Amino acid sequence: MHDEQCSLYLERFIHAAIFAAQPDVMAVVHAHAEDTLPFGVTHGTKLRPVIHLGSFTGAEVPVWDIAGKFGDTSLLVTNMDQANDLAQCLAGNSVALMRGHGFAAAARTLIEVVRLAVYLPRNARALMRATQLGGEIKYLSQGEIEAHNRGYSPHSAATWRAWEYWANRAGCGHLLTLFGPFASLRQLSGADRSAAGSFPGRAPWALRSAADALRIATGPTVSAGDKSQPSTLTTAASICASHRGAAVANAR
Ligand SMILES: [Zn+2]
Repeated sequence: MHDEQCSLYLERFIHAAIFAAQPDVMAVVHAHAEDTLPFGVTHGTKLRPVIHLGSFTGAEVPVWDIAGKFGDTSLLVTNMDQANDLAQCLAGNSVALMRGHGFAAAARTLIEVVRLAVYLPRNARALMRATQLGGEIKYLSQGEIEAHNRGYSPHSAATWRAWEYWANRAGCGHLLTLFGPFASLRQLSGADRSAAGSFPGRAPWALRSAADALRIATGPTVSAGDKSQPSTLTTAASICASHRGAAVANAR
């Protein structure tokens, strides 16, 4: 960030504005997942959860249209004014679509925001196909959304399985074993300890804080903004490598 020879990534504005607007947010993903794009350019069908794992997006995903305030642009977010406008649209939600561009998602931990980035396109795909079948769409009710989200545990075996799978797919699975179990176990509650015991040699508790998650994300094989691997997962993992404070301070 401090190397003047190094050109900064344009996406820094998006990350910085969201971090600045929401103090509890510790991880941000911006991606261009194709399955979400149609829902950003039509008023006909809102992107709402139709599958259980889609509940993480909330009842309805808002759409941020850069043209609303800034007129004709390249559709890219190229300054803090635009990014702040996007952050305002995102406020109170976990994710916002960006018309004709992609989406921005925010969460308190890296694992939560990666989960969002994975299931948002999957939910969009299911909704798109259901729309093609015709008939009335049965969305998740507010009660179902809340019930499913209540049942989510960031330290559960199911969560760890998914995290391990995503890390392997993103090419950084080996980083999951970086943490010494004995050092970390000392800081665990009883429940966490028993969860950790289900994974001998692994360190699911390493994901307990955003700081720990960031250590995973900033490993040697995950380079910030690596555009050579354009999958959503890789994009998610790499962009989250931005340190929260540094991202805000260096964006301007
Ligand atoms: Zn973009």
